[in-house]
Amino acid sequence: LKILKKPFRNPLKKSFKKIVIIFTLLILALSLTGCESLFSSNENTAVNPTPIVQTERSSDPLNSYSIEAEVFPDKKTLTATEKISYVNTENLSLSEIYLHIYPNAFRKKTTAPFLFDQFDAAYPDGFSPGNIDIKNIKVGNKIVDMKTYSSISGKDSTILKIKLDKSLKPGARISLEIDFSLLIPPAAERFGIGANYINLGNWYPIVAVYDQNGWNLDPYYSIGDPFYSDVADYNIKITAPKKYKFAASGVLTEKNENDDTTIWTFASYSMRDFAIIGSDKFFTSSKKVGDTNVISYFYKNDSTTGKEALDFGVKSLKIFNEKFGTYPYPTYSVVETSFPSGMEYPGLVYISDTLYQDQSNLTGLAITTIHETGHQYFYALVGNDQIDEAWLDESFATYSEIVYYEKYYGTKIMNQLEEDTISSGKASIVAKDFNGKVVRALSTFNNWDDYGPAAYSYGATTLIDLRKEVGDKVFWNIMKSYFTKYKFKIATTNDFINVSELVSGKDLSKFFNIHLGLAN
Ligand SMILES: [Zn+2]
Repeated sequence: LKILKKPFRNPLKKSFKKIVIIFTLLILALSLTGCESLFSSNENTAVNPTPIVQTERSSDPLNSYSIEAEVFPDKKTLTATEKISYVNTENLSLSEIYLHIYPNAFRKKTTAPFLFDQFDAAYPDGFSPGNIDIKNIKVGNKIVDMKTYSSISGKDSTILKIKLDKSLKPGARISLEIDFSLLIPPAAERFGIGANYINLGNWYPIVAVYDQNGWNLDPYYSIGDPFYSDVADYNIKITAPKKYKFAASGVLTEKNENDDTTIWTFASYSMRDFAIIGSDKFFTSSKKVGDTNVISYFYKNDSTTGKEALDFGVKSLKIFNEKFGTYPYPTYSVVETSFPSGMEYPGLVYISDTLYQDQSNLTGLAITTIHETGHQYFYALVGNDQIDEAWLDESFATYSEIVYYEKYYGTKIMNQLEEDTISSGKASIVAKDFNGKVVRALSTFNNWDDYGPAAYSYGATTLIDLRKEVGDKVFWNIMKSYFTKYKFKIATTNDFINVSELVSGKDLSKFFNIHLGLAN
């Protein structure tokens, strides 16, 4: 998630004009000499189905999700059958399985997790509920009696518990089948529908994580990204009226047309979640980075900025592949939609349509796209508990912005951005109850002004200072080692500290205690 609540300093203010002039001259020169344009890409072509070729996958036994859904935009509904193959990777038997059913958070105005407390922007036509209705559950071949075996609980009814007849032994698999329907709220949020968009984020029942603390059953907090999941394999079919095009976390493997509808099939391996965005306004432009096809989806009127978004995504992926490690998925989609800022999902990011429509200032579009691309490495690949240790992905995504500006604009701009990050981090010191403690649960933050500086800036300051502490070479080795060790897995703050100490050969306990407020 990118917080764009307040106007932020444009790091390119002074040099931007110069860059534009140089750039225009360069393009002119290239077109005069008949060279290929810098932005050579497949413009406005439909995304064609391809077989999924993914060179790298998790070697752990994974859950798999197979969902067949049909969306009815006029009625704002979706019906689906979801099949899950669940594997018990713990070393104890499990007598129940818990799933998150996040759409229920949108049932009431009081619990609806609209972002940044901006109700009017989220619901321009007023509040109307969204929810998930669980129709049927099968465990193996047996239909579960909904009254006795499953219960929907949690603060906002976002937890589904499925009790098992027989406990599931370590290493054993079990199949679950869930029929459900969704009422999609008229909200410009992660989950919502409007004139230009169908945002399907956190839309299907997803298995909760069982970790050293047992089942993680947190509600859908309205602050931060309150999601935590393991990587899994996905196969998703979505049927929709013909006029819609879909962008998704996975690769489009099939597209079949009927009289009135199109069936879109997407698949992915070893992915942490699966989001989909539909629109009848989408145009696309794409470009390859290594084995990854970066696809920009934008509304017809925003083709200029849509191509800029592609460029920001491409350049981000290039530098992050070099500095952190290779992004392994065959596609990465940067998608324009109605949303207040930017939101990361694996293989797909939401970018606010308002950022595409302001052609005079591309900084918001740039920095949001860079930040969400940073999350592909920290959150999507290297997973973390985003409820208890949000800094592990937000601060790393914030630091990714600095990495990008260093590469493409030089150390002067980078230093400026570092200064801004450090000073907005300092704002958190004066925040109520902060006490220098960066590693803390979402429930302990009072509001966005509390959360933003601590989880984003103060944590990023830790990385800025770590680089100074251990030197450039060791710092990049730490980042690479951390990524390599924990991609497709879940890392904790201690894991990062351990990697830092191992790679640097230094005792960094004092450094991290001070920077993260671990002793407080
Ligand atoms: Zn973020």
